Amino acid sequence: MSASILEEFFIKRSQQKKKTSPLNYKERLFVLTQEKLAYYDYDLEKGRRKSLRGTVDLQKVKCVEMVHPEPSAPMERLYPFQVIYDDGPLYIFAKNVDIQLAWIRKLKEMVRFNKDLKQKYHPCFWVDGLWQCCQQEVKQAMGCRVLDVFGSKQRTGSRKPLPPTPVEEAQLSPPEPPKPAASVGMTVIAEYEYTPLTPQDLELRKDEEYTILEMCDVNWWRARDKHGKEGYIPSNFVVQAGNVLERFPWYCKNMNRSQAENLLKKENKDGGFLVRDSSKVGKYTVSVFTKISGETAGTCRHYNICTTSQGQFYLADKHFFNSIPELITYHQHNAAGMVSRLKYFVSNRAQPPSTAGLGYGTWEIDPRHLTFIKELGNGQFGVVKYGKWQGQHDVAIKMIKEGSMSEDDFIEEAKIMMKLCHENLVQLYGVCTKQRPIYIVTEFLSNGCLLTYLKEGLTQHPTNLQLLEMCKDVAEGMAYLESSQYLHRDLAARNCLVDSNGTVKVTDFGLSRYVLDDEYTSSEGSKFPVRWSPPEVLLYRKFSSKSDIWAYGILMWEIYTLGRLPYDRLSNQEIVEQVSRGMRLYRPQLANDKVYSIMTSCWTEKADERPIFQELALNVQDLLYEFQ
Ligand code: ADP
Ligand code: MG
Repeated sequence: MSASILEEFFIKRSQQKKKTSPLNYKERLFVLTQEKLAYYDYDLEKGRRKSLRGTVDLQKVKCVEMVHPEPSAPMERLYPFQVIYDDGPLYIFAKNVDIQLAWIRKLKEMVRFNKDLKQKYHPCFWVDGLWQCCQQEVKQAMGCRVLDVFGSKQRTGSRKPLPPTPVEEAQLSPPEPPKPAASVGMTVIAEYEYTPLTPQDLELRKDEEYTILEMCDVNWWRARDKHGKEGYIPSNFVVQAGNVLERFPWYCKNMNRSQAENLLKKENKDGGFLVRDSSKVGKYTVSVFTKISGETAGTCRHYNICTTSQGQFYLADKHFFNSIPELITYHQHNAAGMVSRLKYFVSNRAQPPSTAGLGYGTWEIDPRHLTFIKELGNGQFGVVKYGKWQGQHDVAIKMIKEGSMSEDDFIEEAKIMMKLCHENLVQLYGVCTKQRPIYIVTEFLSNGCLLTYLKEGLTQHPTNLQLLEMCKDVAEGMAYLESSQYLHRDLAARNCLVDSNGTVKVTDFGLSRYVLDDEYTSSEGSKFPVRWSPPEVLLYRKFSSKSDIWAYGILMWEIYTLGRLPYDRLSNQEIVEQVSRGMRLYRPQLANDKVYSIMTSCWTEKADERPIFQELALNVQDLLYEFQ
């Protein structure tokens, strides 16, 4: 038997090969080898595989794709994907999005040379004689959705080229919720305290349970507390009751390796530790700080939490545990192979994430609730100030110089922008539109603009790890925009900001559409971002999601040159000529070949050969993994 490449417990939907066979869902152990995807019964008590229930010959696979979860799917069926082969689709449900993406990606990679790959598929389930996506009644009916390029490495050149993605110039309706479609009735636990910002909101107390009553909006849910009180809560402040790690004070979600090192060094305690997401999807890492006796500086060590094929966890030495909390408790008492036992947990949990707006349903902010503290800078629309909302919440306020923006259009758009909520996007909190100048109120990031930060803000020379983490942050924020089908149109280091932990967030997405300044909007204008534009924009003004990808490559180059101006010796006119003839930016000294090849993948002449952000984020993630 060949070695297993991936193993995971998934829920599998019955395949209903006969019309009369029932629709059911069973947990199976899936094992992926070079030739087959096999699934087994599993004896939980004895901790081993039982009988083989089915196999799929990988050579017969025609398509591997995500599936939209069913409306109000139960918690364990939120992350489905499909493997299509001779016997029709096999529907598999992963525990979380990381596992779902990792499997889709691996499977796609393994089947990419298959003979009968499909170019179209059904993005929704086949239920009771009907495709839920296109309402066709024949199970064999051709797919109704053209495959996207996610995961298909076109650069290998061995696959039929996919049809180009349409130019996405159309105005968009509010984005689809990219977050997991959790369900009404489910129990959640507050990860952070939340003090109501409006009378309709409900207070959250850390670690207490709440029942979800209504998911009126992606970012705001109506909930009930244990005393029966009801109101709106920010959905990013709670976790599903099943996700236990979030309940432990040593777990730092969304923390990367350098941030963990910074935090542990700042605490400066021998045996200080935390648990964070590993750069390998779906896995976790324990970071520990130690001071060898007499030393003052101290060092950090990182240990991946490994899993056995029976689903048990272990660290350095092979002491096995059924859960991560049990493993941590054990190592709080025993070093057992690590540099130190885990003595003190170090946590960043004090800082809650930003909410999508200041309370449910509010996007018009009363200017009397704002106080101005200091000027941060001057931009395309005028002065930007740092201030407080209601005397306590940090905000940045853009005061829009009259005549610099088409205000009515922007105000309409702001309602959509408010719904975009991601840890790598600068959050729009609201607007003040009843007076002139109008204000745009956003999240405040204390380390300011990324370009300035790269040039002069870093206290020490950045490590390669830090540079790559910055690229990852931007790719994640952009992958979220992409999943919401939202174009940035002016991605560059000057439009990214850095928070107090060094996390990079993308800002000013979509804003360029409302600029009233010919120098900026016309491609001949002196302020047009020529240096960040692909040939098809420079020559034919053809904007698309692929022009954002090009700009991302340039932004990576800005990061790796610590803020140099791209093509600094060339004028705009020379750039148009030379870039359209095939000239590209050189490899920055700090970028190795792998990093440079990610940049250059964004700069292919043909727009449809460029990757998508989801793929870029995974590629950067793969390089980050080499640092673990
Ligand atoms: P515009 O995009 O309107 O041209 P910017 O967003 O570039 O203006 O703002 C000008 C400067 O103000 C930036 O370079 C940055 O230093 C500062 N700034 C803007 N927004 C924020 C924010 N949310 N937090 C911290 N500083 C900010
Ligand atoms: Mg800007």
